[in-house]
Amino acid sequence: MLTDRIAAEDAAAGFILDGFPRNLAQARVLQTSPAGLIDKVVLFVVNEDEIVRRIGGRRGCPHGHTYHMEDHPPVHPGVCDVDGEALEQRLDDSEAVVRNRLAVFGRETEPLISFYDQLGLIVEIKGSGPVEHITRQILQAVRA
Ligand SMILES: [Zn+2]
Repeated sequence: MLTDRIAAEDAAAGFILDGFPRNLAQARVLQTSPAGLIDKVVLFVVNEDEIVRRIGGRRGCPHGHTYHMEDHPPVHPGVCDVDGEALEQRLDDSEAVVRNRLAVFGRETEPLISFYDQLGLIVEIKGSGPVEHITRQILQAVRA
């Protein structure tokens, strides 16, 4: 299905896959399909504690307004600025759950990184810092 999609006319000038392939089998299929030849793999290198801080600090109200305890706090702690609802942390965002997800992700991703590294396709980008800076690095990586 994906190989059909990237062979379509509107993908002729190139395409970006986000979060795919997820495993070695998918990567091999992609790399042997003429349309699916990957020429760059952008690897975001992030500090685990920073990920835990970012995700662990997220809070939201039942109406979907989101905050971050340090980066974007509400005016009154624990209360939504827009509607006064109590802010809560999603269970998925707790430190233990996040650290476990990172461990699983690391185990699943390691073979992919080796695969693309052997092909010389990996471009590492530091995934922390201002969004504009990261965006600039991504654009440089895919244009080069
Ligand atoms: Zn709200």
